Amino acid sequence: MKVDVLVVGLGPAGASTLKNLTKIAGKDLSILGIDKRERPGFPVRCGEFMPSPEEMAILTPDVPNALNFYTFDSKYIASRTNRISFHSPAGKIIQTPFEGYTLHRGVWNEDLLLSAEKAGAQIWNSARAVNKVKNSVWISREGSTPEPIKAQVIVGADGARSRIAGWTGLSEKRNTEHFVYAKQHVMTNIDSPDYDPTDIQMFFGENYAPGAYAWVIPKNGNTANVGVGLRTPMTKGKITVSKALENFTSEHPFVSELLQSATIYSTIGGLVPVGLPLKKTVDEQSNTLLVGDSACQVVSSVGGGIPTSMVAGSIAAESIHNYLTGNGSLIDYQTKWKEQMMTMFTRAYKLRRLFDKISSGRDSRVQWYLNRLKSSDVNAVVHCRVPLKVTLAFPFIKYLNAFLN
Ligand SMILES: Cc1cc2nc3c(=O)[nH]c(=O)nc-3n(C[C@H](O)[C@H](O)[C@H](O)COP(=O)(O)OP(=O)(O)OC[C@H]3O[C@@H](n4cnc5c(N)ncnc54)[C@H](O)[C@@H]3O)c2cc1C
Repeated sequence: MKVDVLVVGLGPAGASTLKNLTKIAGKDLSILGIDKRERPGFPVRCGEFMPSPEEMAILTPDVPNALNFYTFDSKYIASRTNRISFHSPAGKIIQTPFEGYTLHRGVWNEDLLLSAEKAGAQIWNSARAVNKVKNSVWISREGSTPEPIKAQVIVGADGARSRIAGWTGLSEKRNTEHFVYAKQHVMTNIDSPDYDPTDIQMFFGENYAPGAYAWVIPKNGNTANVGVGLRTPMTKGKITVSKALENFTSEHPFVSELLQSATIYSTIGGLVPVGLPLKKTVDEQSNTLLVGDSACQVVSSVGGGIPTSMVAGSIAAESIHNYLTGNGSLIDYQTKWKEQMMTMFTRAYKLRRLFDKISSGRDSRVQWYLNRLKSSDVNAVVHCRVPLKVTLAFPFIKYLNAFLN
């Protein structure tokens, strides 16, 4: 079988690419999207938090028409939040205003695919990419013998463990420091006077989230996404992600109280790439583009990849259409996503590295630094900026850490 465009993986990145491409091209191009899942978009492996359009416009000022671009139909919004709280290991809470919402991400993802299908794309569920040779991807449907699909353009949107990136030679060797292992419960029946459904809560501490953070993200009513992330070099072999989540929900002084009457509705696990985006995201020999987690297009300080997948998917669609109609080159995709998002990615990565440097995975150090941060400093951090006082302290961090040992 031959198609103009094949999109492998139909999470936020692949679905955004498909939706935008069918919107531009209609039925002029033959477009096929495939996903190994029976129901792409489900189960939702995500905290589903999305900054408001206003916050995203600050974070990515170079995205054209950002306020409109990041606006979701209200049917996809499970709850609106207006604050982020940082909880230090010893329980100090620092709060800052930050508008956002928790999505019904699975429903939104599925609707993108339905609308792409209506506009002419073909969608294959339970279809796994098992190999790639030049411009053909071999696909096995429901475990059947693989068949080759030849495409003029291939989009690798197959997530953090991207096979397309590996087969194309675009992937980069990265050590485990650059990956967060995450596990999350959807918890319901939360019935505590301390529960604020407008507050995104982030928790730091080596018993819950070594090298990353744990979270309580309010969903609708008395339900929340409750999860932990960790990086294995920071665990020193002492804790698994399952144990970290158990510690967090049953032993953390604040969270265990908050969740006392809560029940687990469902549980998921996932991998979040937290390095810089890949240097090369287009292979011009095989006309392959990488979009979303497959390209590590994640805000590495917080592990956010929904808005960045939307931007990358939209730019990919435009570049693919221009290329196939003789009005541009595929490399335009790489140039444009870098123009629109690289500043944010670089700042977030610097922050993540700085956090590693000051904390070295130790609660005592994290506590010492957080004790000195105010709401305005946390506001800088959530906008991917290093607080001024940390910049000023930077030359002395080595000595401070020796003193704090
Ligand atoms: C626990 C957790 C919490 C998170 N919380 C947030 C949050 O609150 N806010 C936020 O912005 N980001 C969050 N993220 C990050 C966000 O979920 C990702 O950045 C986002 O899903 C990236 O979208 P994607 O389409 O690139 O990849 P994915 O969502 O991973 O989608 C990839 C798709 O490819 C398919 N696939 C993979 N291999 C193949 C194959 N060989 N053949 C066919 N199909 C294949 C998969 O089935 C999947 O559907 C979180 C991540 C995790 C793990």
